[in-house]
Amino acid sequence: MTFTTPPRPLDVEALFPGLAAHRATATRLHPRAGSPTARDSHVGGPLLWPAGEPWPVCDEPHRHSGPLLAVAQLYARDVPDLAAGPDGCDLLQVLWCPFDLHGPTGHGMHVRLRWRRSAEVREVLAPQPAPARFGFDGYLPNPCVLHPERVTEYPYIETLTGELGERVEEWEDAQEEAAYEAECEQGFEVECEDGHGAGGEPPPARPSYQCDLSVAPGWKAGGHAAWNVTGPGSTDCPGCSRGMRLLLTVDSYEWRSDTESWRPLPTSAGADANRPTSVAVANFGKLNIFACAHDPAHPHRFSLQ
Ligand SMILES: [Zn+2]
Ligand SMILES: [Zn+2]
Repeated sequence: MTFTTPPRPLDVEALFPGLAAHRATATRLHPRAGSPTARDSHVGGPLLWPAGEPWPVCDEPHRHSGPLLAVAQLYARDVPDLAAGPDGCDLLQVLWCPFDLHGPTGHGMHVRLRWRRSAEVREVLAPQPAPARFGFDGYLPNPCVLHPERVTEYPYIETLTGELGERVEEWEDAQEEAAYEAECEQGFEVECEDGHGAGGEPPPARPSYQCDLSVAPGWKAGGHAAWNVTGPGSTDCPGCSRGMRLLLTVDSYEWRSDTESWRPLPTSAGADANRPTSVAVANFGKLNIFACAHDPAHPHRFSLQ
């Protein structure tokens, strides 16, 4: 099965040629329910974990603390925009604690990343430890296989600076204004200042830079980070203070009503079609994981959006 993101509703580089310098590729993972093995890239399946290597446990003591939960693993061969790992590692494994009882606030997530060289793993640990209790069901992923697809992305709107940033902001405001006026003229939604009443058909959607043209929703590797909740945050490496890049986004939704244009084809049916993994992070938002662009062995940064 191949999933394909529909073409963007307009050519944003034709509109803003300055964006070409900020173009990046991301690999959308398109997780869908399946029966992955330890030799597959997946969400919620068994990890390629060597028999005899201790399974990681939560190292921040709290009630019910225990083994970490296997969340995902990505082989570099499957995910072209997966940043290179340290020391020739080709497999990224993601685990987390199923409780929100960590960090300085006592309410934070605890995420653990493990890079390894897949060729060195002979016998795979089986069965694999799993937590007996969960602080939150949204931390338990449905087993999913991945259908990676490369897409083009542009920076989150608030990270664009200078004249380019101003021009994109102005265009975005004008699009919103025009959409509101069109709705008003057609008598759709609320009564507007001109006294048009409610009812009627919604006008065709107008593309939005933020929703349709910049950052893809859903699980993905690489590309640009969205900062919908906090606004742009630091991406300086904790190890060397140099720049970091987006390694992986864990998203509670593959698309939402405002990012429907990214819904891949063929469309999947069902009310929960946009939540194939069942994972919910950051109050049904997303988790962005950053890695140092200069040394992938440096500590990661995590941002909940
Ligand atoms: Zn924990
Ligand atoms: Zn660094």
